[in-house]
Amino acid sequence: MTSGLARRSARLLGEGAKLLPGLPVLVAFGHLARGGFKGLASLGWWEAAVVTLLLAGVLSAAWRRARREAVGAPSLLRNELELGGGLVAAAYVLVAVGGSPLYPIVYLLMAFLVSFLSRAAGLTLLGVALAFDAISSLPEGPSTFAAHAAFMVLFAVLYHVVLAARMAVARKAESEAVANRIREAEERARTFRLVSSGTSESQGGAKEEEKWLLASVKEVEGAVGSALEIAELALRTNTCAAFLLSADERLLKLHDCRSASDRVQRERFAAGEGILGGVLKRAVPVRMNAPTGLRGVTYYDGGAGSVCSLLAVPIVDGSGMVRGVLVADRIQDEPFSESDERLLATVASEVHRAAEVERVMGYIRKARDEKDRFFRAIEEMNRAGSPEQVFNAVLESARQVAALDFCAVTLVSEETGGRTHRIARISGVTSQGRSIEGRTFADNHGLVANVVRYGAPLPGRELRAMDRQVIFDADVQVRGLSALKIFPLAAAERILGTLVVGSRKRAAFDGDSLRMLEVIALQAAQAVLRAQLFEQMERMATTDGLTGLVNHRTFQTKAEEAMAQARRYGRKCSLILTDIDHFKSVNDTYGHPVGDLVLKGVSRVLREKARDTDVVARYGGEEFAIIMPETDAKGAQAIAERIREAVMAEVFQTEVGPLKVTLSLGIATCPEHAAEKQALIDLADQCLYQAKRRGRNQSVAAGQVGGRKLQVASG
Ligand code: GH3
Ligand code: MG
Ligand code: MG
Repeated sequence: MTSGLARRSARLLGEGAKLLPGLPVLVAFGHLARGGFKGLASLGWWEAAVVTLLLAGVLSAAWRRARREAVGAPSLLRNELELGGGLVAAAYVLVAVGGSPLYPIVYLLMAFLVSFLSRAAGLTLLGVALAFDAISSLPEGPSTFAAHAAFMVLFAVLYHVVLAARMAVARKAESEAVANRIREAEERARTFRLVSSGTSESQGGAKEEEKWLLASVKEVEGAVGSALEIAELALRTNTCAAFLLSADERLLKLHDCRSASDRVQRERFAAGEGILGGVLKRAVPVRMNAPTGLRGVTYYDGGAGSVCSLLAVPIVDGSGMVRGVLVADRIQDEPFSESDERLLATVASEVHRAAEVERVMGYIRKARDEKDRFFRAIEEMNRAGSPEQVFNAVLESARQVAALDFCAVTLVSEETGGRTHRIARISGVTSQGRSIEGRTFADNHGLVANVVRYGAPLPGRELRAMDRQVIFDADVQVRGLSALKIFPLAAAERILGTLVVGSRKRAAFDGDSLRMLEVIALQAAQAVLRAQLFEQMERMATTDGLTGLVNHRTFQTKAEEAMAQARRYGRKCSLILTDIDHFKSVNDTYGHPVGDLVLKGVSRVLREKARDTDVVARYGGEEFAIIMPETDAKGAQAIAERIREAVMAEVFQTEVGPLKVTLSLGIATCPEHAAEKQALIDLADQCLYQAKRRGRNQSVAAGQVGGRKLQVASG
């Protein structure tokens, strides 16, 4: 009970304590509004107490804010208001005591508060100051308040703008410093041959690449640093430093050093001069000694000074190429020994090894990424089924292994009229854009035609005046390329077409990417062949070999589809069944081959007389069927007659002379004569039978057979 009361009163006290800092502010403002703080002379004990409490509140708020800032916590709005409010009140007290010449203190303070406190706190305080100003300048009239308010706002805004500008400048300087650091790291990596000079990575991997580069440079630096430390300790050197040759091998640059001197040359200096020049040139270690000071020591800023002993060994890579020099020197006249030389040579190989490890790692990584992309692309191509999918996959694969600005696949077809090329797929820089996709051109002396002719990639060497080269034919313009390669698509000892790749960059196709493109062309040829065979098989499975018409099985599916459509949309659909009259006698009289010729001739006429939307099928031996979507009985009959007359008029030229045949036709229409496929076929067949019975060379439609409606039981 007692403890509960104590806790409650403690909490109340705590809550009260939180209000304490705000209290003197309110009291001060109240006292000011009532005309208090008249001057120093009239400052009573009461006013002095208010000022003291005010200052204590400000100090405590400032201290709390600083504490939060120190641990990285965001500052509290209440805290900021206490601090700012205290300061504003103090400023007004100062102005009241010291007179209006001190008023600019308020302006400056407001500018400071608006700029450094949070926006909410700053604006609230500005509002409080303006309100207080409005009240306290009532006796002096509105113009005083207006002037105060205008200045207060003006100062705050100006200060804010100036500060923001300064912050922006500082941020810019900081990001420039970071960029410089990265450039420096790249420079170092390049000296180590970690990245070939001028390599530009693809955009996506740029950030990742940057991180990796920094990490690998750090790694190398670490390894080199500890190697130098060992040498410094073991050889008791004044300076022990590794200098590496620039990419053009004309300059030396300090890579890392351990030295008692701060004058070791940090700028690049000529590699061919002095003692180091000799070491680099002859690729052998050098030991020198001169009690009065050595000459030819080039790696100190402002001269060698008193270096008396020097030992330098070349840093040599695996292929025997000199990459730099490792040097150790002493001030005291204490010559380096042979075993010192052996030790430094070991350290030099360590320095080189560290760089080599990173270089190889970089190479492996790059190669692995490339291969990954490459194999993924190949897989994609092998999965492609239709020619369309194959072309897409080929273009995508080629783009994966080289920076392409232009890519195309052409196909070749051999016909009786000669060889024809077709641009099956194209992407990239052409004046005609995609409009030339699907375009065909006759064999010519352009590059594509020649690649097909000779079965070898072209051009063999770099071409000049690329824009004037005929890649496809003279009408297709490809402009702006600096590199071009055309590969044959060779499969099953045939050239199926070509893969054309081009880039605006001159050196876009290096050894590796050329080899990969070559493999892509090989795989592409296989994929195209597969797709073509697939298409051919599909064609064979659905069409009749002799006439090229749709075969019986496909007729059945097409008829089913057509009738389903008709039912769904409430449309009509007609079917003609037709049989050649007395065909047996053609075979019997002239032989089967002549019969075949006539069959082909009749199917050609059927195809010509039918409409594009009709399906003409070889229904049986010398029987044909025509499915006619969206065609009523009347329309079907008209077409049947047109066909009958055309066949009757046709003269088939055969080796035994001209031949003529006639047709009998039966017609049925869905849905009026039958709603199901088989019923419709049966009905058409009965009509055909009627046509035969009535004397052949005529057409009979369902519903007009012998004056009575011909019906077939359904179900
Ligand atoms: P009709 O139809 O007018 O009653 O007399 P038809 O002589 O045509 O009689 P039918 O339809 O029964 O004869 C079909 C003949 O067609 C039998 C067969 O020799 C011939 N035939 C079927 N398929 C082929 C083929 O692929 N090639 C050739 N040359 N003849 C075929
Ligand atoms: Mg027949
Ligand atoms: Mg017949």
